[in-house]
Amino acid sequence: MPIYQTSTFAQDGVGGLREGYEYSRTANPTRTVMEEALAALEGGRHCLAFASGMAATDVALRTLCRPGDHVILGNDAYGGTFRLLDKVLAHWGVEHTAVDLSDPVATRAAVRPTTKVIWSETPSNPLLGIVDITALAAVAAEAGARLVIDNTFATPYLQTPLALGADVVLHSTTKYLGGHSDVVGGALITDDTELNEGFAFLRNSAGAVPGPFDSWLVLRGAKTLAVRMERHCDNAERIVAALAGHPKVTKVYYPGLETHPGHDIAAKQMRRPGGMVSFQVAGGEQAALDVAARTRLFTLGESLGGIESLIEHPGRMTHASTAGSLLEVPSDLLRLSVGIESAADLVADLLAALG
Ligand SMILES: *Cc1c(COP(=O)(O)O)cnc(C)c1O
Repeated sequence: MPIYQTSTFAQDGVGGLREGYEYSRTANPTRTVMEEALAALEGGRHCLAFASGMAATDVALRTLCRPGDHVILGNDAYGGTFRLLDKVLAHWGVEHTAVDLSDPVATRAAVRPTTKVIWSETPSNPLLGIVDITALAAVAAEAGARLVIDNTFATPYLQTPLALGADVVLHSTTKYLGGHSDVVGGALITDDTELNEGFAFLRNSAGAVPGPFDSWLVLRGAKTLAVRMERHCDNAERIVAALAGHPKVTKVYYPGLETHPGHDIAAKQMRRPGGMVSFQVAGGEQAALDVAARTRLFTLGESLGGIESLIEHPGRMTHASTAGSLLEVPSDLLRLSVGIESAADLVADLLAALG
């Protein structure tokens, strides 16, 4: 697919659009092909791409909610999603409650007459919590709310939430779909044509669209998604085996572990457990920071889902904005985005850093 690096399109007379394109905020051929690819991967009818995952989140929430409406989100939601609700949308009268979405009783108890959205990540960031999408879809339907699944961690290769009853799938295409840490983007996928029209109207009105080159990068990344995900999973499983039982590791979070509370649900709704691993280090926050400072193959950095392995300290980095809230993460927690390098090298790097 060529990169249509253009803002505007020649028209055949007033109102005579050539191939339907007029202006690249509204639509661009490279972006359209990328959107069609992501819709196909998720098994959905419609996809709209955005300038970032947060831009997609913003458009989804502002389309689904009006002042006075209420959102239920997971108590281990992505820090940026929580910040948008807590620090921005709250001022515009959109209310939220953070709950443990793996607990249907707690989730039902949080439902209000004004609840319009249940927003869930599974696996979640950074604690790899698992939510039963089919069960949550039933709760949302009972509540008359829409279920949005942030499928960034799983990717459509490992899990397709629309088939399990979700109304909308959100992606930060910055992560696995782009796959090479060289683009920031987002996407919303849905089968609901009316909802998609609402998203498209707000996207065109507010304008947070991806450029043609960024669209092309996501399209190119998606071509190798299946191969990369298999390798991310293979490597993550090797690393989990090395960390579990290590004397300096107090807890490993990975849905592939039989001891993980969401193991059976993950096995049911995911093809494999994914490439993200979190763990707690003996000795508290400083010990965790020291490990993150000592790895050589795992680059210290935010983001995830690229071919290169990354390590980060959620409490001080990606999830700093959750400090003091219900969503606060343990201070001795480290998160790995396991890349596609040699598994033996990655394991050796972590073992050396743990000392
Ligand atoms: C990164 C991320 C987002 C936000 O996406 P951006 O592209 O950074 O705006 C949302 N959800 C999850 C799970 C993420 O990891």
